[in-house]
Amino acid sequence: MSTTKPEILAVMPLPPYARAQLDVHYTVHDRIHLSAPAAFAAVAPHIRAIVGSGEAKVPRELMVQMPNLKMVSVIGVGYDGVDTAAANELGIQVTHTPDVLNDDVADLALGLMLCAARKLPQADQYVRQGLWATQGAMPLARKVSGSRVGIVGMGRIGKTIAKRCAAFDMPISYTARSSKADLPFTFYANAKELAANVDFLVVITPGGAATKGLINAEVLAALGKGAGEGYLVNVARGTVIDQPALIDALQKGIIAGAGLDVFDGEPQVPDAFFSMANVTLAPHVGSATNATRKAMADLALLNLANFYAGKPLATPVPECR
Ligand code: NAP
Repeated sequence: MSTTKPEILAVMPLPPYARAQLDVHYTVHDRIHLSAPAAFAAVAPHIRAIVGSGEAKVPRELMVQMPNLKMVSVIGVGYDGVDTAAANELGIQVTHTPDVLNDDVADLALGLMLCAARKLPQADQYVRQGLWATQGAMPLARKVSGSRVGIVGMGRIGKTIAKRCAAFDMPISYTARSSKADLPFTFYANAKELAANVDFLVVITPGGAATKGLINAEVLAALGKGAGEGYLVNVARGTVIDQPALIDALQKGIIAGAGLDVFDGEPQVPDAFFSMANVTLAPHVGSATNATRKAMADLALLNLANFYAGKPLATPVPECR
């Protein structure tokens, strides 16, 4: 059915502000309501643009079902669920929302670091459960300020995390695909060498095939230094960590603890994490504040508006420029 407003496909449920704004300008078809092949086939030829969050799955098989598809607008900076090679082949542009979420993700990384080392969730429970009065002071925790931090991925968000770590007087090291001559931090060629030289390892690379399992058992052993030391913080993607290796390292005390915002296979989270006292868990909330989600939605909408107006896109992903 064609309408006066352009028709777009939402590949997943969207946050309320983004959805409301999209509804003003577009006729939004929800993939979730088009599970019957005939229903989807009726809509598919009218779709020129797709919208989804950073967790959106847009494989080649989906793209080829929409003969007029020319654009994918991701409300998020990570786009590892979009097959960019297929998009390039099919002449489909892909946009994302970099930079506007740097502060929030960096804030959360520091929050998880503090939770893991200073045991803030456990401290809250200690008070609520009346243990302070009955058992006295909590066991002592690990100091964060002045500790060595290693950042895996020194891009937009990695640099924003580094700024915050500098305010905590933390010596900063990092690894990335290349060293950055303009940064006053120590570069290590790989995650294992980095891990061996830091107390906190913060992971903030893209997901996808190139980083799958980058933080493996060897890296975790290096972080632990044979003495159950070292904390891992993951605000990147669950796939970047070898999750079974992490569970093993936490269960055996190979590392001291972890703070995790993302999981391989999320929103399913392995039960093993639930009973561990040395891990803080968050449900992928890196950018989840009202202000930032609004800024992300506005940027995604700008990309869509530019696309329909035939103007250059504001923030295309590097692979699809
Ligand atoms: P970015 O500016 O592109 O930075 C990515 C960094 O990762 C770069 O320093 C890059 O190295 C490095 N990198 C890429 N592939 C690598 C590899 N194979 N090995 C080692 N390092 C590698 O991206 P960003 O804006 O900082 O975002 C990073 C990621 O954070 C996103 O892709 C997303 O997955 C995740 N994220 C999570 C949340 C959340 O809610 N938890 C929110 C936003 C983003 P070079 O600098 O050498 O190229």
